[in-house]
Amino acid sequence: MRLVFRECSYILSPQGLLRNIDIAIEDGKIVAIGRNIGGDEEVDCRGLVSLPGFANVHTHLSHVFAAPKVTPSWENHHVEAHSREAVEHLLRLALIDSLEHGVTLVADTTAYPDVLRRVAAEVGVKAVPAVPWRMHGRRERGIVLESLEDIVDFSEEIKSALEENPSAVLFVHVANSRFQVYASKTKYGKFPIELVDSKGLLSNVTILVNPGWAASWELKLISKRGSKIAYAPVADAFTASGGSLPAREVGYHGITSGLCTESPLLGLSLSVLDAARHLLLLQRSQFWERELTALEVLDIATRGGYSILGFKGGVLEEGAPADLVFFYTSLVYVEDVTPERLLFSLGPAGIKYVLVDGKFVLDPPRKRLLEEAKRESLEKLRELSYEPKG
Ligand SMILES: [Zn+2]
Repeated sequence: MRLVFRECSYILSPQGLLRNIDIAIEDGKIVAIGRNIGGDEEVDCRGLVSLPGFANVHTHLSHVFAAPKVTPSWENHHVEAHSREAVEHLLRLALIDSLEHGVTLVADTTAYPDVLRRVAAEVGVKAVPAVPWRMHGRRERGIVLESLEDIVDFSEEIKSALEENPSAVLFVHVANSRFQVYASKTKYGKFPIELVDSKGLLSNVTILVNPGWAASWELKLISKRGSKIAYAPVADAFTASGGSLPAREVGYHGITSGLCTESPLLGLSLSVLDAARHLLLLQRSQFWERELTALEVLDIATRGGYSILGFKGGVLEEGAPADLVFFYTSLVYVEDVTPERLLFSLGPAGIKYVLVDGKFVLDPPRKRLLEEAKRESLEKLRELSYEPKG
């Protein structure tokens, strides 16, 4: 069956914003983009703007309600002190929240990968479990390294785990703050990314989580090894880390990058859209140039994230999986709206539909069901006497 979204006011395609366009979907994929496309079923898309779904390439979903006991920092945000049962409800709430912000793919740091997979399938979001190495991460596709000590103490074992599992992805928290750079230089005599490389862990399966304090020669090293970068701009600004990578330079080096919210303890929400807006503004204010555009930032938030997690999609083009978000904003009635204005006009309340593999995972009837699911999970957490800890 061919489903057609008829006359979307704008779509975000690799060619930029296109006006008054039909999107046809069949067997979970985008099969045609154009005008006057025939279909078996039609959805009126006038007044809506369609974007590829957002990818959150690193977060800690179970922190969704955590209240920090101490000032949260890059060094102390790795907390998972909840029971399996509490985590199930926290993940449900966080995944619904992600979906309500247009996130269709998320890589979550969790000690309970089986629970994440089950709840994500139920909510309708694609999920990659990333398990901290010290919590038996080697058995999972995603492995998280939390500290410089992990990198040094376990490098040989990690390398053999990566060889055993060719589809594995290694998430490394590195060069997040000045403190980490000094600690690395003092303790190991190397800069953090240099240290990762010296241990043979800087490779094309490595995702460096917000390495704001990387030197330009380290960027060249990242590019040479084919490693990827996850920006966490809200967490960066909130923690006053004082360091950010220049996104344009990262792009010139041919490094693929994605966006993440980090833990809500650091990144304040699970909204990749907010992260995208912050990336654009932070980059402009920190590097004193106006070249980075909203289109580039949105590309990092969608296609970039999908790509670094090894997924097809994140792009609105023929042949891609139909992971799409449809937003209402009154700006769609403006002729020739700029991508920057559009980016800042989008909000979760304006989301009318979210599709994952061509299936409606968010639409008005399902919104009501998800509200019910949220209420039940909140009640269960109360019964479990769950106390948010950070
Ligand atoms: Zn993290």
